[in-house]
Parts: sequence; C-alpha cells; structure tokens
Amino acid sequence: MSLQNPVFIPGPTNIPEVIRKACDMPTMDHRSPAFADILNPALEGVRQVLRQSRGETVIFPASGTGGWEAALTNTLNPGDGVLACRNGMFAQKWIDMCQRFGLDVTVVDVAWGEGLPVARFEEILRADTEGRIKAVLITHNETATGVVSDVPGLRKAMDVAGHDALLMVDGVSSIGSMEFRFDDWGVDVAVTGSQKGFMLASGLAIVGFSEKAVAASKTATLPRCFWSIDDMRAGYAANSYPYTPSVGLLNGLKTATRMMLDEGLENVFARHARIAEGVRAAVFAWGLTPCAVSPELYSNTVTAIRTPEGFNASDVVALAARTYGMAFGTGLGDVAGKVFRIGHLGMLTDAMALSGIATAEMCMADLGLDIPLGRGVAAAQEVYRHGGAAARIAAE
Ligand SMILES: *Cc1c(COP(=O)(O)O)cnc(C)c1O
Repeated sequence: MSLQNPVFIPGPTNIPEVIRKACDMPTMDHRSPAFADILNPALEGVRQVLRQSRGETVIFPASGTGGWEAALTNTLNPGDGVLACRNGMFAQKWIDMCQRFGLDVTVVDVAWGEGLPVARFEEILRADTEGRIKAVLITHNETATGVVSDVPGLRKAMDVAGHDALLMVDGVSSIGSMEFRFDDWGVDVAVTGSQKGFMLASGLAIVGFSEKAVAASKTATLPRCFWSIDDMRAGYAANSYPYTPSVGLLNGLKTATRMMLDEGLENVFARHARIAEGVRAAVFAWGLTPCAVSPELYSNTVTAIRTPEGFNASDVVALAARTYGMAFGTGLGDVAGKVFRIGHLGMLTDAMALSGIATAEMCMADLGLDIPLGRGVAAAQEVYRHGGAAARIAAE
C-alpha cells in the first residue's frame, strides 16, 4: 500500500505529477541545440515570475545556499561593509556566510518573530556617510519564524537615505508564492531556489542581478569560479553552461513556470493567501499564536506556531511523522522546541491544507494539549468555504 501524504514542511514542497514527469528525461547532450528549447523557456519563465525585465538571470545547479554565495561573490570585495538583520535562522546563515567571506557585517538583531526594522536601517545608512556599506541584505520571508519583511519599504529607506548600496533579497521561500517585483521594487540581487514556490526538487539556485549588480561584478574581487556570472553569461550566449547543467530539473522548471503563469501569478498568490489564512484561523481556534508578532508580518508560505510554555513543540513533529506519516517543520535555532511549523506553499489546495490542519490537531490532542478535535479544522473550513474553492468553481 502506498501511504503518501502531502508534506507540510516549508520546502522542499510537494511536486505536481506533471512536473515530476517533466524532470524524468532520458540523457540528453547539453551541448546539442535541443537543450536551448529547455534552457531558454526556463530562463524566460523565471524572469516572468521574478518580474525582472532588466539585468541578468542565472540558474546554478545548486540549492538556495549556492544562490547566496553567487550573490555575494559576484558583486562584493573582501572587507566590504554589509548591513543585515538577524531575525531568524536563514538570515543568520546568510550573515554567517558573509563573515566567512571576510565581509564586514553590521548585524541588527531583533527578536525572532519580528521583521526587519526599516527605520533603524535608514538611520544606519544615513550615518554611513563614507559609503562603507556596499550591500543591504533582507530575508523577504524568514522561513524559521514565518515572518515577512518589507522589501519595498527597505528600498524606499535606502533611497531616502541617499545610499547606493546594493539591495540583496533572499526570496527563497517567497518568490513564486507571494508578491515579488524585481523591477518595481528596485531589487539588485534576488535569490531563490527550485524546491519551494517552484514545486521542484532541490537543485537549482536562481539568482537575478540588476544592471547595477552586473556593473559591480566587473570590479568585484571576491574569488569565484563555479559561481561566476561571467562564465555563465558566456555559456548562455551559446545556449549552454560552463559545466554540466541539471537538464531534467531545468525541464521541470520550464514546466513549473508555465503552470504558474497559466494559473496567473495573482491567482497563485491569492491561493497562498487564502490557504495561509485558513491555517492561521486554525491556530487561533486552537488558542495558540503565530511566532510572527503582528498581522502585517504573517507569512503566506509558512506559519510557525508557538506552543504553550513547558511543552516541547518538536514532539508534534515527531509524533506526526511516527503515527500519521505526515511531515511538519521543527523549530530552528532560538525557537527550537518553542514552535512547530506548517509549511503551506507550492502545490497545495484547500482540501490538502485541511488534512494538515486535522493531523496537527490530532497530534496536539494526543500529546495532551487541550485542543478539541475539529476546532481548527472548522475554523479553516469557514475560511475556505467562503471565497474558497466552491466560489471559484461556481464562477467558472
Ligand atoms: C530554504 C531557504 C534557503 C535555502 O536553503 P537551501 O537548503 O540551500 O536551498 C534560504 N533562505 C530561505 C529563507 C529559505 O527558506
């Protein structure tokens, strides 16, 4: 018997059957002309999802972490100043990478559950009259806490401060699931990966560079080889790669972006928003709270749920895996044991979300929390039945 539940981890996400099939290809010569029919539509699809019409977009055979490294090494010099906020595990890991590369990071610490403090960043940028800071980093969606930070707000603060650092965005768990506008938001470098909103396995790091970031790469002296956008540009000019690409994944990406654009990005975002709202309704019905401290910070791709004092939130994750064959995310770093996470991004329907909510509810009840069965499910059902799938089908 096959016991396959959807996963509710915030990446890798569930893979639609058509995308799995697109990835399953016989070996092809990646230097043959046929590869162009995979590479170019995949690149074009990604640019549409990023809403990027300027600069360059590159896709590395790597996980998102490789995208971070490509962002830094192509644009910065050893000792350059970087400004970043540490509000969760992913923000922390990018900061750690900056430090390992010998960058001079100004870290703004806030409590995990809060967003990037835009006003504080503006102050720091104003005070940097010598232009020591070369890059400002923002984690658009902090996957450890389920917190969204304000990318356009940060762009505005940088402009108001008259600072010309590069704006680098980690959009790994937001791009393709939540509003993101590379051009309109004045983003200089955007990093994402294949295994979250793009509904693929891990293995493609997607990075958009603005013209300004490309210009910075002409003089940037951090060492790079595998991550060189110059080498990649030369490869792309010949419909090829500087090394062996992940052909099957790229074919999956071609299919994934077409699916997303066929659904319509606005509809994809609306679906994520509705599913997230149902999950949060369940959380509140359980008498619990999201880790994100205020509603404007709530993520539409992942909800980190605070459990009561003295209760180990990781027990929910362990029990769900053991007893119900379902995967939720554990708490990471500062919030380990204090939260568990429901990932709700990628290929997900209202009905799938209900199965995750119902299972989380069973686990918490099994572990002795005072959670009456059905309460969270009913709260989510109220969200989904009005303006949910039924309304959509009726309209068609
Ligand atoms: C998943 C994720 C990453 C990248 O992680 P990889 O495991 O290297 O793909 C980076 N940032 C955020 C916010 C993420 O959610």
